[in-house]
Amino acid sequence: MKGSLLYEGKAKKVYYVENEPEQLVLSYKNDATAFNGKKKDQFEGKGRLNNLITSKVFEYLKQQGLSSHFIKSLNDTEQLVSKTTIIPLEVVVRNVAAGSITRRLGIKEKEIFSPPLVEFYYKEDELDDPIINDQHALYLTDVKEEEIQFIKETALKINEHLKDLFKQSGLKLVDFKLEFGRLADGTIVLADEISPDTCRLWDENTGEKMDKDVFRENLGDLISVYENILQRLEENTCAK
Ligand code: ADP
Ligand code: UDP
Repeated sequence: MKGSLLYEGKAKKVYYVENEPEQLVLSYKNDATAFNGKKKDQFEGKGRLNNLITSKVFEYLKQQGLSSHFIKSLNDTEQLVSKTTIIPLEVVVRNVAAGSITRRLGIKEKEIFSPPLVEFYYKEDELDDPIINDQHALYLTDVKEEEIQFIKETALKINEHLKDLFKQSGLKLVDFKLEFGRLADGTIVLADEISPDTCRLWDENTGEKMDKDVFRENLGDLISVYENILQRLEENTCAK
């Protein structure tokens, strides 16, 4: 059923699906990269963990009435999704200050943003994904003014759902990155992944970092941390 390779990125391979031109298979790799590919490593089992975590998160969002590209998980490392044309924007939502915003604006780590912030970055590796404003997004992509508003509102709605989901697992959602794409009919839907590679998650009790910062900052064993996130999500969804 899996067809030829369409694209290989830093964390996933994307395949066509035979006889299903509007679907793709996302195959999660064991590679970890940070600082726009400048730091690299491989972790046995990471692809499986990110695939299973992302699948749980997208299933939860579906239960909350949010449509996305996600169709189903196929096996340990692969999932079936609707094919989209990705809008080259990285949409970041921040509840708590961490990462680039602390360096760019001198805001102390752990400061709370209420209401949460929504930021756009231009998804262009050669430019190191620069931060942009709404006017830049209108100029650089095919999104319309009202679609910018839709993307922001949807990102904030997703934030509320994800905060709840992770809170039930004893995790604080600090920030995360989303990507949106257009289906064949032009509709904009949530795409890509939502995993500890794309979210910052802190243990609610200890404050321990339980996401890709473990790799970025050499804090410990990435796989056991991601395994722990999956276990917490499984316990939480099984209990219902
Ligand atoms: P990167 O391209 O940043 O290295 P990945 O390794 O995660 O990232 O590659 C996956 C690629 O697949 C990304 O470019 C992402 O935008 C794209 N993608 C994710 N979901 C879809 C989808 N539903 N349709 C088309 N492309 C998608
Ligand atoms: N993020 C991501 N992909 C990127 C850039 C950021 O998934 O290319 C996520 C990152 O994991 C974090 C959030 O977006 O959860 C905000 O990232 P930030 O701007 O702080 O950048 P960082 O300092 O993590 O590089």
